[in-house]
Amino acid sequence: KAKSAGGSGYASYDPEMLSGLVARLELEADLRLALERKQLHLHYQPTIDLATSEVIGFEALARWEHPERGLIPPAEFIPIAEATGLIVPLGRWVLREACRHAVEWSRAGGRPVKMAVNVSVRQFDRADLVEVVADILAETGMPADQLCLEMTESVLMTDTDDNLEQLVRLKALGVTLAIDDFGTGYSSLAYLRRFPVDTLKIDRSFVERLGALTDDTALADTIVQLGKSLGMDTVAEGIEEFGQLAALREMGCHFAQGYYFSRPVPAGEAGRLFVEGAAARA
Ligand code: C2E
Ligand code: MG
Ligand code: MG
Ligand code: MG
Repeated sequence: KAKSAGGSGYASYDPEMLSGLVARLELEADLRLALERKQLHLHYQPTIDLATSEVIGFEALARWEHPERGLIPPAEFIPIAEATGLIVPLGRWVLREACRHAVEWSRAGGRPVKMAVNVSVRQFDRADLVEVVADILAETGMPADQLCLEMTESVLMTDTDDNLEQLVRLKALGVTLAIDDFGTGYSSLAYLRRFPVDTLKIDRSFVERLGALTDDTALADTIVQLGKSLGMDTVAEGIEEFGQLAALREMGCHFAQGYYFSRPVPAGEAGRLFVEGAAARA
């Protein structure tokens, strides 16, 4: 942004701001190339059934290995993808890749892999989201009920009527729908009832407070009980310690993810983890 230079009529630019803008433009150009040149890949974080301690599936998380800068975290490149519209082809690629792997590991493990994929609110701006999901399910042979689409509360809060219609059509395909980072947005209980949501993912910030030193079970417990009373599954994200796991299990939370169980891992490792889990049970 140009600052007015004391009425001289000239605009002086903050060099730091300018270099920030240039860096962002570079990153945007690089991201476009990365998509074409397949420099993006997915890591997978296991989802654990708290009743049985089994790995029931994974969440797909995008990774960008930049040729010069190394690993760029999604917190940095997803907002750029959203601002530029690149999120549409990127999102399509993530869905296809995650479904392809889920089908492969289900076959190898002899039991269904549940795959959760993050979907940006910007992907709902496009009228063809439902067709894209349907096409990818057909193309990969992924059973719809094994796919869970994760979205933030913003999907319920913006373009409400249009997004509701798309969610109803996605539900009709047989996929499940989850609200990610639940509790950090502004959705009201009325929205939760109105939208065909299957799962609440309890944001990591609430799980964090279940640690031994700062025990605050009230918020996490409220979300779990809310999910129960609405007939929804609950998933806790960001479990790092046994104490948090024990507290959530006690509350009746159904599923969990977190470094305590596993960090997000590359595809090969995720596949092995799932198949060996199956073998251990057999
Ligand atoms: P998210 O969907 O809420 O994913 C959970 C994030 O928490 C992941 O970060 C994961 O690595 C991290 N995490 C998991 N367990 C723990 C834990 O025990 N402790 C801590 N400190 N962190 C944990 P990641 O992979 O960096 O992704 C960040 C966000 O970027 C995601 O948050 C999601 O909003 C977005 N994102 C990632 N991949 C995609 C994608 O393919 N599409 C879209 N639209 N967004 C994506
Ligand atoms: Mg997520
Ligand atoms: Mg989340
Ligand atoms: Mg989160």
